[in-house]
Amino acid sequence: MSVQTIAGTQDNPSTPAFGPAAALSCRECGTRFPLSPIFACVECFGPLEVAYDLPAGDPEALRARIEAGPANIWRYAPLLPVPADVQTKPNLNPGWTKLVKADHLAAELGVTGGLYVKDDSGNPTHSFKDRVVAIALEAARTFGLTTLSCSSTGNLAGAVGAAAARAGFRSCVFIPHDLEAGKVVMAAVYGGELVAIEGGYDDVNRFCSELIGDPIGEGWGFVNVNLRPYYGEGSKTLAYEIAEQLGWHLPDNLVIPIASGSQLTKIDKGLQELIKLGLVPDKAYKIYGAQAEGCSPVSAAFKAGLDVVRPVKPDTIAKSLAIGNPADGPYVLDIARRTGGAVEDVNDEQIVDAIKLLARTEGIFAETAGGVTVGVLRKLIESGQLDPAAETVVLNTGDGLKTLDAVAPTTGPTATIRPTVAAFREAGLA
Ligand SMILES: *Cc1c(COP(=O)(O)O)cnc(C)c1O
Ligand SMILES: [Zn+2]
Repeated sequence: MSVQTIAGTQDNPSTPAFGPAAALSCRECGTRFPLSPIFACVECFGPLEVAYDLPAGDPEALRARIEAGPANIWRYAPLLPVPADVQTKPNLNPGWTKLVKADHLAAELGVTGGLYVKDDSGNPTHSFKDRVVAIALEAARTFGLTTLSCSSTGNLAGAVGAAAARAGFRSCVFIPHDLEAGKVVMAAVYGGELVAIEGGYDDVNRFCSELIGDPIGEGWGFVNVNLRPYYGEGSKTLAYEIAEQLGWHLPDNLVIPIASGSQLTKIDKGLQELIKLGLVPDKAYKIYGAQAEGCSPVSAAFKAGLDVVRPVKPDTIAKSLAIGNPADGPYVLDIARRTGGAVEDVNDEQIVDAIKLLARTEGIFAETAGGVTVGVLRKLIESGQLDPAAETVVLNTGDGLKTLDAVAPTTGPTATIRPTVAAFREAGLA
């Protein structure tokens, strides 16, 4: 392929399409494969992930190069499976979302060590999914795939539709038939094909795996199936941004939502890379996973001391996290235990309370997944599992406007009055 030479690629004159990425490697047996649109090991069926020859050398220079980069995920291009000239391609360029110092929420929860909300509702389609799609899309472009697709719990469908529109791909995305109206509209408005499947997410995912094996699926990039190794790497940018926004250090605790568990495992991978590269001081951080009680297979396994995850049938208002058979569940358990964290869950009522708590204290309106993380943070503190004197980052991964139904029944006008001062006084609000 022909590529431009741009600053920063002198060490790699051929400017490979995947930047510092060297191969795919099996998470279970370590077998390596060429970078291609595959996702499972032919030796052991283990999941594949991107392996790197990361830039060795002066961390100070790498930090400076990153800091001089654009205010989006591409500032971390030297650590991602993308070409060095990625910024010249049409992409939604997500990321560099706000890290909000949440002092009011901290006071309410009794956190004294510093509390931050990483607010990914600020992404182009208002969820963290724009990060993972941006990387998968670049892989699709390199592989010459022409249709972008996914199995989605809602946010991913919108992120794929929008990114495909921007980059000039055809898109055809699949969702469960019972999603929130906000998610369905967001998935449809970008003009691609949107197919609602009569079943839950796990049925949608199974269907997509079948489609990949069928001649119909030729030329299709399912961002979270056959492009999953690349997709997963997008979540590392959350780790990078949190560290950089904290002044190049790692927090003590991170509270992360779990659907398939990809995001949590890849944030851990990103944190490990930062330490290995010397971009941050080495540090023992703790990772906490958050689920909704109505879909808590990983939390249940954690509490039972198991290292396998028994699938469940989801029943929760946190639909973006409603994956009953999470692919990365066992790795999440590993990480929570290795780092000294935990996996916890909250019920629907606690999710709604937490959404309102975050809105009332910090002016951030989170979707149900954000209610799950903030609710779990509160529960972890109350149960003594998370040290309130430590520095903690809690993730909000989506926008409350997409899940209005969760809070609509318990919010509304304080009063409805005639337009007179007397009426206002009568309402007792003066
Ligand atoms: C998809 C999603 C997640 C996490 O998904 P994983 O499959 O665990 O990576 C978290 N929050 C929201 C809002 C999501 O849409
Ligand atoms: Zn293997």
